[in-house]
Amino acid sequence: MRKMVALLLLGFVVLYIAGCKKGPEKAKETMSGNKTLQAEAKAEAKQGFKWQVDQFADIRILRYQVPGFEELSPRQKELIYYLSEAALWGRDIIFDQNYKHNLKIRKTLDAIVEGYQGDRTTPEWEKFMVYTKRVWFSNGIHHHYSTDKIMPEFSPEYFESLIKGCAGVKFPLEPGQSLEQFIAFLKPIIFAPKVDTKKVCQDPSFDLVANSAVNFYEGVTQKEVEEYYARLIDKNDPTPISYGLNSRVVKKDGQVMEEVCRIDGKYGPAIEQIVYWLEKAATVAENDLQRQVIEKLVEYYRTGDLKKFDEYNILWVKDTESVVDFVNGFIEVYNDPLGMKASWEALVNFKNPEATKRVAVISANAQWFEDHSPIDPRFKREKATGVSAKVITAAMLGGDCYPSTPIGINLPNANWIRRMYGSKSVTLENITYAYDQSSLDSPFGPEFTYNEEILERIKKYGSLAGNVHTDLHECLGHGSGKLLPGVKSEDLKNYHSPIEEARADLFALYFIMDPKMVELGVLPNEEAAKAEYDVQIRNGLMTQLVRIEPGKNIEQAHMRARALVSHWVYEKGKPDNVISKVTKDGKTYFVIHDYQKLRQLYGELLREIQRITSEGDYESAKALVETYGVKVDQELHKEVLERYRKLNLAPYAGFINPELEPVLENGKIVDVKISYPEDYVKQMLKYGKEYSIL
Ligand code: ZN
Repeated sequence: MRKMVALLLLGFVVLYIAGCKKGPEKAKETMSGNKTLQAEAKAEAKQGFKWQVDQFADIRILRYQVPGFEELSPRQKELIYYLSEAALWGRDIIFDQNYKHNLKIRKTLDAIVEGYQGDRTTPEWEKFMVYTKRVWFSNGIHHHYSTDKIMPEFSPEYFESLIKGCAGVKFPLEPGQSLEQFIAFLKPIIFAPKVDTKKVCQDPSFDLVANSAVNFYEGVTQKEVEEYYARLIDKNDPTPISYGLNSRVVKKDGQVMEEVCRIDGKYGPAIEQIVYWLEKAATVAENDLQRQVIEKLVEYYRTGDLKKFDEYNILWVKDTESVVDFVNGFIEVYNDPLGMKASWEALVNFKNPEATKRVAVISANAQWFEDHSPIDPRFKREKATGVSAKVITAAMLGGDCYPSTPIGINLPNANWIRRMYGSKSVTLENITYAYDQSSLDSPFGPEFTYNEEILERIKKYGSLAGNVHTDLHECLGHGSGKLLPGVKSEDLKNYHSPIEEARADLFALYFIMDPKMVELGVLPNEEAAKAEYDVQIRNGLMTQLVRIEPGKNIEQAHMRARALVSHWVYEKGKPDNVISKVTKDGKTYFVIHDYQKLRQLYGELLREIQRITSEGDYESAKALVETYGVKVDQELHKEVLERYRKLNLAPYAGFINPELEPVLENGKIVDVKISYPEDYVKQMLKYGKEYSIL
């Protein structure tokens, strides 16, 4: 919901933000090929830092720096160290949540990479390594973004020979299972295209639960799950818990029931480790409030009680003074086709005081934005409260935030807590910086931008405008407006996420062109806002299609939101020629002719989407998303893919974590050293060995 994932930079950057996560739309385009590698080498020389360390399939692996870490106090570093351990211990949880056989598969792949005694120089081995790297990247065998099953390019027979070529290696066999039986069990799971094809099914003509491979449900139908929660949920409760957030629904002895994640329940051993490190963190908290935050989280992990989770969130929102902050838990619901169950994620960070000033200005004017929003006054908040925004430096990524990372987060997700206590919104600037640095001089911009003038404007202002868009989306957009009494965000069901992301995006797009932005000193001039419109239209109508396979529809919530917004304004602006489709040298471009009219159209759509949200109008949400946000123009798609293919780029990126090493004196931590490893495979194997417990 609040995960803002992928964004944009110089237009060739497609980032992903989580928490609005963050969602995680989290990828930017990559560079490769001689020309771009040279460009990259140049960028590295400038920075003296190797940003990109690996590239395979549609993914590139980057590193991020943690500037300012050295200047933190020893106690703050110690706090970050403990929170980071707590972040890394949830890795098994996200693998298991994504698919019930993921842990077994990951352990098998790890064991082969470590122990295979045969030839590691063949093309087959290379294909095996690409598959393994992709599984690591996606925290499972389904693509992190499309949620389609990743199909290996090597044969089942080769896979069998790998396992048999690992003499003395221990594989995760069940008690009494022979190696032959183990291999026979894994083969269809990994190789059969029809077995568990999709992690998250979003086609409403199917049973969404039964057709999703995600491990939030076992042996139950969508109808059974919906009936189960309908009985549980008190519709008149003004402060409802987030029903079903931290559990798995199963059928036992014919009864539908929940397995709750807690220290003595589902994922107990991993949660025990997380609690252990959180308790250490509590001893070095920066202040009393932060200590209470951590202790409340521990209480929640011990009991699984979602009331405690709400109490924790309320405390967490109040803590705006601490330098160090973190997210750790079952947070975002993107991976649940019913939008209830949360994936485990973690992020450890600290404040970037300089960059925070920019968002502070925006936040301080929250009421002005609410008052001037083009939405129906009935849906406006009388008091835009508690929008606390800051720019942070990420120090450790875990769970669903690793390696694919959000660039912005806005939490908590519970609507009533946001309304009564506000929310915290953050921008991960060291992550966007790494994206930018690694994408300098990419051929992407020139290929898809109509002319030099627009390209130059994007180069000049795109990065700043993109950050400001993110700030508006995160700090104000998600928190703006209100629901009518009795309406719940779940009323929009599977259309909730794209509608909510479109709403936040439209809020940002409408206001970024407002003279207020220049007046506040957030943007230097209107040209910067134009650059953002250029990028958004280019992306929503055309370039985001590079992430879709031929013949497929758009599925990811943020992409649906961007397609919806862009196609709607394109269609509605046709009579006035606001945006035109132009062909030059056989290539398609979209050109904006009237930026002010485009702004009005964004305002109109914002008004309608706010109405849909506030009234819980499922049918209208469905019509908007299905008409503008899902379908792909096959001919244009083909052209875009062809042009993109020639650039030899990879559309997604993720990150290697830094390594934190405590310096001990007489058994006490006196300092923490940070280093930036370069080897993706090594980090994955290390995590597989040191943080595996389920
Ligand atoms: Zn968002």
